[in-house]
Amino acid sequence: MSKDRDTADRTIGDATRVVAAGRRPEWTQGVVNPPVWRASTHLYGSVAELRAAGGRDTHHRLFYGRRGAPTQWSLADALTELEPGAEATFLYPSGVAAIAAALLSVLSPGDELLLVDSAYDPTRSMADGLLKRFGITTRFYDPLIGAGIADMIGERTRAIFMESPGSLTFEMQDVPAITAAAKARGVTAILDNTWATPLHFRALEHGVDLSILACTKYVVGHSDVMLGSVTAAPSHWRKLRETSFQLGQVASPDDAWLGARGLRTMAVRLAQHQSSALQIARWLETRPEVDRVLHPALETCRGHDLFARDFRGSSGLFSFVLSGGDEAARAALIDGLVHFGIGYSWGGFESLAIPVDPQRYRTATAPSFAGPLVRLQIGLEDPADLIADLEEGLKRFAAARG
Ligand SMILES: *Cc1c(COP(=O)(O)O)cnc(C)c1O
Repeated sequence: MSKDRDTADRTIGDATRVVAAGRRPEWTQGVVNPPVWRASTHLYGSVAELRAAGGRDTHHRLFYGRRGAPTQWSLADALTELEPGAEATFLYPSGVAAIAAALLSVLSPGDELLLVDSAYDPTRSMADGLLKRFGITTRFYDPLIGAGIADMIGERTRAIFMESPGSLTFEMQDVPAITAAAKARGVTAILDNTWATPLHFRALEHGVDLSILACTKYVVGHSDVMLGSVTAAPSHWRKLRETSFQLGQVASPDDAWLGARGLRTMAVRLAQHQSSALQIARWLETRPEVDRVLHPALETCRGHDLFARDFRGSSGLFSFVLSGGDEAARAALIDGLVHFGIGYSWGGFESLAIPVDPQRYRTATAPSFAGPLVRLQIGLEDPADLIADLEEGLKRFAAARG
C-alpha cells in the first residue's frame, strides 16, 4: 500500500514510474533491485513478537512464507503505484490463478456472473467448469453492449467480468459505461487489463474494482516466467486478500524477482511494441490478401472511438482476417515464417504468430469473417524484417488459396 506516493507520483512519466516503483530502502537493503528473499519460516524473538505478527491486519510484515516477503511485496506495491486509486495488489503463480482469485473473492453459490463473450478462453472454461460446479451461473454478453449491460443485471448478478480489447478479436468495451451500470446496482466490476497494462489503461480511474494482469506477458516481458496479479480498489482489497490467503496462493520469490526486473523496462518495451505493431498493422491493411486488421488503435477499426477516448496507448498484440482461404492456406502463411515463433502467450521480446478461431468459443454473439484469422504478437525485432517475413507469408497464402 502506497497511497502517499500514489498521489505524489501522478505527475511523473510512465518510464520514471516503473523504474522507481516499489523500491523501498528497507526492501532493497542498499542494492538497486530488491533481492530474492527465500523463506518459509520466519523466526521471532519471543512469543509476544510471534503473536504480534499474526494479527489479521498486518501488512508488509514477515509472518510466514505463504504471505510473501519483501521480494513479492515490492513487485505488488509497484503495481499498486502504477494504478491510481488502487489500495493493494496481490500476486499469483499465473494469470489464470489471478482470475480465479478475483472471481472467488466476490462470488458465492447462487450468484450470477456476467462474462464478456470475447473473453480469454481459459476464463470461459473457469466459468463453465469450476464456477458452475460451485453453483455460480454465468451469462455471456456482447462485447459491444456498453450501457445496455444495465438490462442484463438481475437480482443475483454479483460481478461483471470485462476484457478490453478481447485478446483474439480486439473488440473494445465501453468500460466507463459498464462500470457505471455495475456501481448503480452494487455489482463488482472486474477487468482483465493484460493487453493495455496500467500504463496504457488506468482501470480503476474508469470504475473498475479489481484489475487483473497476466504478468506473464508484459510485466515479465521475456517469455520465461508465469505470474499474475490483481490490483484492488479500497472497497475490495480486504476480501481479495482473505480469499487469496485462504486459497494458499503465493508467487515464488524468484518469479516475483524476475517480474520486478522485467517491470523496470516495461515502459520502453511497450512503446516499441506499440510502434512496431502499428507499423505492421498499417502495412497489412494495404495488402490485397488481408480483408481486415483487428487493432483498436487503427482509425479504421471498430471501437477506435472508445480506444481514443479511454486509452493512453496500445501494445503489440493484434489479429488480421485473411481474404478467403482455408486452414491449409493459413498454415502455409504461418509455417514458413522465419522471425515469428508458433506458440501461445505473448508480451515477450520475440514475435509470435498463431491461427485463432474465435467463432468456436462464442455463445452470445456470432462474429463472421471473410477468411481465417491470424494473431500476431509483435516483438522487439526490426519491424522491416517482420514485414519482409510477412510479405513472403502472404505470397505463400495467396499461392495456397489459389
Ligand atoms: C495469457 C492470458 C491470461 C492468463 O495468463 P497466464 O499467466 O498464462 O495464466 C489471462 N488473460 C489474458 C488476456 C491472457 O492473454
